[in-house]
Amino acid sequence: MVDELRLAVRNDADGDRVFRLSADRAGALRSKDELRSQGTHLWCSRQAGGCGGRLQINAGEVVRPYLKHTTGAGSCALAADITRAEHGYEHLLVQHTLRSWLEDQGLSVVLEKTIHGGRVDLLVRIEELTHVLEVQLTPISNERWQARDAVYRHAAHDVTWLYGPRAESAAAREQALRGVAVHLDHHQERIGIAEASTGTSWSPLSACRLDRRGFWTPGLDAAIAAHEAAQRKELADRHVREAKELQARLEAAAARRRDEEQRAAEDRRIQERAATVAARPVETLVPGLGGLLLPLEGYPRSLAQWVSAHPDASGWAPPQGWAFLYDVPDDATNAAKFVTYLVTKIYGSGPVTMFAIPGIHEHLDHIVDALQAVGLIHLREHGGTMRWERPGSAMSLRADLS
Ligand SMILES: [Zn+2]
Repeated sequence: MVDELRLAVRNDADGDRVFRLSADRAGALRSKDELRSQGTHLWCSRQAGGCGGRLQINAGEVVRPYLKHTTGAGSCALAADITRAEHGYEHLLVQHTLRSWLEDQGLSVVLEKTIHGGRVDLLVRIEELTHVLEVQLTPISNERWQARDAVYRHAAHDVTWLYGPRAESAAAREQALRGVAVHLDHHQERIGIAEASTGTSWSPLSACRLDRRGFWTPGLDAAIAAHEAAQRKELADRHVREAKELQARLEAAAARRRDEEQRAAEDRRIQERAATVAARPVETLVPGLGGLLLPLEGYPRSLAQWVSAHPDASGWAPPQGWAFLYDVPDDATNAAKFVTYLVTKIYGSGPVTMFAIPGIHEHLDHIVDALQAVGLIHLREHGGTMRWERPGSAMSLRADLS
């Protein structure tokens, strides 16, 4: 396998002084001379995931220049996987760039600092405050991001994640969570602040700073303002939505109440009608029509109304005479006589309530008792209503047969 490594660190296998070999032979040879004159060597970076072995520049006539492990690549992970080497050194290069930027601001920086529960890329001290800068160049799952973020926030006063182009989805998650996310374009040493409505606005790293208030870029204030405006709008929209929902719920409740009231009114009308129907004789035998049953309307009637409808009643008397009414008080005697006429000559059966002629109500029991005692009617409860029947009438006969 051809060794195609072109990345290394100078001075020390554990350092962060990244060296990138020129792809053309002349440039590679110039670097070789320069390193020799400085008495410096190149190493396979442990921080980038390499073996820590020494590397030398190979710039022959035929193949493109590359870095060769002086004692053989062996099981070096970077020699076998150029993409992995690129990513490993890229991370180191970003750390180095950020460290220079921070030290230029007079801040004290520790790279790859071990903390309780993990390790941070850059731990920065700003007077008594600590700030973690975490460089995220590779994709990371939501669970892992949350776990690491919690560890960092426990260890430091403030945390800033810097996302490379391959960690876009993690950046989008933090943006959704906190409103803004910091993007990193390390080849051009630019820092971008992204906010949902404005997108990413880029600034050179030299225009950014880290101080007691945190990480700042020229685009940050606008991004935060846009985020807060979006939040306010969302809140206002939610209030409008909730007010509409409340209104709809109130209207639905009012409509339900109206329906219930209408149903109750309808129930009352039915009950009233049922009570009126129950107070009437349900049917009657009309003399001369062969026992045809007809409904009667217009109850209750006063005694005068009854008598005007049946003038024959006034001269009529039953074969047994009126002696059986002896127990009925005098002021109800006329009504009692008329009821006797009705049950003997007009109707064959009906509800007892049909005798409730206004003015004699309190004597109704006496009248019914007297009619029963003399054998003119008998009582029968039917469907919850007390009914009377003339013995031997069609209704009575049907009832006796059943
Ligand atoms: Zn190596």
